Amino acid sequence: MEEQVIYHPDFFVIPEGGEKPYLIAFRCEECGKTWFPILPYCPNCWSEKFDKRELRKGKLYTYTIMYTPQKGIKPPLAFGYIDFPEEGVRVGAQIEVGADVEKIKEQIKIGMEMEVKAGVIREDASGKDVISYKFTPAV
Ligand SMILES: [Zn+2]
Repeated sequence: MEEQVIYHPDFFVIPEGGEKPYLIAFRCEECGKTWFPILPYCPNCWSEKFDKRELRKGKLYTYTIMYTPQKGIKPPLAFGYIDFPEEGVRVGAQIEVGADVEKIKEQIKIGMEMEVKAGVIREDASGKDVISYKFTPAV
């Protein structure tokens, strides 16, 4: 097996035993605002106490196709923002839609339900695959 690096283990969870991966948002115990990703303190009230909230399924707010991404990322790829209205957070990530990104319009629509998925997001400087969260149409 090739070497892999799991990115953001403090807010991206890949459960053992086949359960679907999920993200962790942080809800301020003082003012109730929810943040993603983790912050050292709440920007709204300076509290350092947070409850963890699991983010599993959200709605696609918007997306774009990137042809000239950062180093280590293979173009073209889809990048989008997913809203979690209950928690009040918006998460940006790569969107996985199968082999042909150019056909994305046939596969996804603004507002559709998307779920968290683990996948290779880029290669690091030594050529290892970096695994992190992506979104894909919910099943
Ligand atoms: Zn707060």
